[in-house]
Amino acid sequence: MTNLRTTKDWQAADSAHFLHPFTDFASLAKKGSRIITKAEGIYLWDSEGHKILDAMSGLWCVNVGYGQQSLIDAATRQMKELPFYNAFFQTATPPAIELAELLAEVTPPQFKHVFYSSSGSESNDTIVRMVRRYWDVLGQPERQVIIGRHNGYHGSTMAGASLGGMSGMHAQGGLPIPNIVHIQQPYAFEHGKGMDPDAFGKLAASWLEEKILAVGPEKVAAFIGEPVQGAGGVIVPPKSYWPEIQRICDKYGILLVSDEVICGFGRTGNWFGCETMGSKPDLMTFAKGVTSGYVPLGGVMVGERVAKVLIEQGGEFNHGYTYSGHPVACAVAVANIKLIQQLKLVEHVREDVGPYLAEQFAGLRDHPLVGSVDTCGLMGAILLVKDKAKGLPFPGDLEVGMVCRGHCFGNGLIMRAVGDRMIIAPPLVMTRSQIDEMMALIRQALDLTLADVTSKGWL
Ligand SMILES: *Cc1c(COP(=O)(O)O)cnc(C)c1O
Repeated sequence: MTNLRTTKDWQAADSAHFLHPFTDFASLAKKGSRIITKAEGIYLWDSEGHKILDAMSGLWCVNVGYGQQSLIDAATRQMKELPFYNAFFQTATPPAIELAELLAEVTPPQFKHVFYSSSGSESNDTIVRMVRRYWDVLGQPERQVIIGRHNGYHGSTMAGASLGGMSGMHAQGGLPIPNIVHIQQPYAFEHGKGMDPDAFGKLAASWLEEKILAVGPEKVAAFIGEPVQGAGGVIVPPKSYWPEIQRICDKYGILLVSDEVICGFGRTGNWFGCETMGSKPDLMTFAKGVTSGYVPLGGVMVGERVAKVLIEQGGEFNHGYTYSGHPVACAVAVANIKLIQQLKLVEHVREDVGPYLAEQFAGLRDHPLVGSVDTCGLMGAILLVKDKAKGLPFPGDLEVGMVCRGHCFGNGLIMRAVGDRMIIAPPLVMTRSQIDEMMALIRQALDLTLADVTSKGWL
């Protein structure tokens, strides 16, 4: 099939019938999509035969890289044996049980139970239902309010987009839904210029306490945040931030939810981002990396504080999805987690490629366009600025990040732009020499962007 159609044919059929997510339909139709046809390891190929280094792991998910035979075999085997059965009718399937057991083993000790979904967004819908139910059962139904953060990302369903703080998303569809409020993100470049990082982390955490007091502590159900904000631009908070957030949640008895959809399964150099950042969440959202994106799966890890109440006092929980515990998805997740263990990918990130990436990124600081760099495990961001010395950003309408992204695409590298933050989250199987190869492509893109920006007189 792939070979029978030309790129132009694919593009025409694509724009005639396929409405893409987060896309300006008309402008994409004019340009035509890039058609990705195959992948192996950390590389993709498009329909024109170009090889591309995928420094975004698909969409933050293909952590074990493409083409892993054990995941393919697990899916094939399970599809033959039992492609689907539900978990509604007091029934369960072996892969769903085996995965639940394995998740209890690799997550922090407070987690012994899982509630399955098929995506990060659905998982965060479950979070909203579950935390409110928890407080209902405890006789505190007035605890309804969930606090999220501006520029946080928690998915695109009504609840997911409401918990998130993306202004573009809130501008469409009447969001956020009631009883979800937001505090400012811990982004030093915008909100803590010139401050000592430790002091800024504590200041940013104090905005949570301020909000709790403004809402009324007796009305607040939970706080939700990503350990490191991903879609918001790989914003790595100061070390003091999460322990202080934990202290504040404890002080008011508020549930802490860690959205681990990106940070989970090794991305930050520990199994979960909360371990790297020093918090002890009551609930964790996961998706993406749990199957390395090979098939859709998500879920919520339910800590014993919440699980005990729901199990012992809750009665029926009127919530669930057809695909909660889908056997094929769960079988792939089991194979994926076992492969992460077998290849020691968490240690590989923590002790080898994570520190190596940090070192390489630090070397970009001397580039004229680079205002700052951040890394955490195997995720990183490069901030492009107009004036390094003064820390002045480019005016937003110039879209310098998009110019740089264009050069990456042109040179066989997928790096994403969030405003003028160029971000990466490559597969965890990446080697040092592949990081060298990626760094050469990044430098090339930065130099071409500098040439563009200079010739346009934007500097
Ligand atoms: C991607 C993402 C989600 C949403 O997951 P989907 O599978 O796209 O619904 C939620 N939270 C975070 C932190 C994410 O990065």
